[in-house]
Amino acid sequence: MLAFLGSLVAAATEPAIPALLKTLLDEGFTEQAFPMWMIPVALIGLFAIRGMATFIAKYALSYTANGGMLAMRAAMFERLSHADPKLFSEQSASKLSNTVVYEVQTGSTMLVNGSLALIRDVMTIIALLGYLLYLNWQLTLIVLALFPPLAWVMRTLSKRIHRITRISQNATDELAYVVEENVLAHRMVRLHGASEQQARRFDQLSHVLRRLALKATIAGSAMGPLSQVMAAAALSAVISIAMWQNTTSGVTVGGFVGFVTAMLMLVAPIRQLAELAGTITRGLAALERGLELIEDTPLQSDGTHQAERVRGEILFQHVGVRYPGKEVAALQGVDLRVSPGEVLALVGPSGSGKTTLANLLPRFVEATEGTVILDGTPLPDWSLTSLRRQFAMVSQDVVMFNDTLAANVALGAERDEARVLEALRSANLGELVDSLPEGIHTPVGHNAAQLSGGQRQRLAIARAIYKDAPILILDEATSALDNESERLVQEALNRLMRGRTTLVIAHRLSTIEHADRVVVLVQGQIAEQGTHAELLAAGGVYARLHAQSQGGVLAE
Ligand code: ADP
Repeated sequence: MLAFLGSLVAAATEPAIPALLKTLLDEGFTEQAFPMWMIPVALIGLFAIRGMATFIAKYALSYTANGGMLAMRAAMFERLSHADPKLFSEQSASKLSNTVVYEVQTGSTMLVNGSLALIRDVMTIIALLGYLLYLNWQLTLIVLALFPPLAWVMRTLSKRIHRITRISQNATDELAYVVEENVLAHRMVRLHGASEQQARRFDQLSHVLRRLALKATIAGSAMGPLSQVMAAAALSAVISIAMWQNTTSGVTVGGFVGFVTAMLMLVAPIRQLAELAGTITRGLAALERGLELIEDTPLQSDGTHQAERVRGEILFQHVGVRYPGKEVAALQGVDLRVSPGEVLALVGPSGSGKTTLANLLPRFVEATEGTVILDGTPLPDWSLTSLRRQFAMVSQDVVMFNDTLAANVALGAERDEARVLEALRSANLGELVDSLPEGIHTPVGHNAAQLSGGQRQRLAIARAIYKDAPILILDEATSALDNESERLVQEALNRLMRGRTTLVIAHRLSTIEHADRVVVLVQGQIAEQGTHAELLAAGGVYARLHAQSQGGVLAE
């Protein structure tokens, strides 16, 4: 509102300048109607008011726009946090961060500047036109005839800019994706001498972006000159007619100069208006992406059932999972009952569906057939927050945040330092903590890369111990650690598993032998189940895998 008012005042001062000139020329020189000192006072005063009004308008609009950006970013992040997991397999991290961080910023900056100038220019044009009408309405009609072709040019070029902007956004995403991949895979890229290949890939995309940027500039910059030429045509028409009018109907010199000055002043805002169309279009296209993310990203369906702590009875009823675009189902007709407190080992060749089965529980993957029931309630009926509180997960790829040890262990929960320390000690990390000068307040760095493989695994275990969830999902590391590290990890795991229902994707014979039951998956179906001894005796798939096992690790 304030922005609008400011622009209004700023614009209203525009016709005052030619009006002042006209008064000066008509009366000032001829009749000395007012003292000389009034001239600088009037002029400076006029510009001061205009400057103040512009400043207020700018600040007010920026205040509103930044508020809007804040709200939009918050809404987008909220969406990301509750989005259907499908989103993350469909869109790259770089694209999402591009939208949330960069596009919204560009969009709002362009829109703020664009709308501010738009309000100012439109107001100026209206005010000047009003003044022109007052001076000489016939001549003003010629000026008005300028607007329809101007609008047409603006519309056509804006459409083109919109299209180019959308294509550029995708190209920028791809460029960011190449950077992301190269950052994450920097070791592999160097080891395989793939730097040049990657540089070419990057270069190609950069060139595409450059071409698009040039195209956008052509479209954007064509507007100004085109509109200026049109304005010049109108101006010459006006001058010719005015000259002719002058001879027939004695227009004063002041009147004519006032009219032409006002008209000349009209050219600048018209040209700016034409160029603004480009800026605003680009801003809108950028914001559109943000809005699409908010509106088109489906939220994961949520139920209402809540429970403080489940007993841990899990029932798979004829469960099937088929990933989109895949011919073969990842899981098929799985019927399985896990009792509270049971340790269940999932084994099977790679690609047999073990991870998919485990991911069904916290609803990272949805069953496309059948139901999974936890403590008597089907998973979709559970409140997602409450459901996910029931699980702790320790997987092969340990994910750590760039924060302190304590923050990583107490992730998402309230931080109780004594408990954090206890969890770290139970996870056999006591010595590490003691050796660090800042103890549990030591930052771990990007994905805790300074820690050894075994330490990272134990840190993940400490996090699970801290969470103290009734059900545990373990994805055992396939690559063996050295003996000492292995022992420390195993000890930590044993402490973690105590008293919890555990599903472990197992590769080690020692884990499998200690499990209450072993379920063997083959091509998404349960091939056999029983204890290690029973399965060996049965002489089926498991016995075959066991016979081929090496170094305490089951064959895949
Ligand atoms: P395992 O853990 O036993 O190695 P997975 O559960 O990872 O097996 O995979 C089972 C099957 O599902 C494989 O054929 C795999 O290619 C496929 N699959 C796994 N995750 C996805 C996914 N996100 N999208 C498409 N297919 C997948």
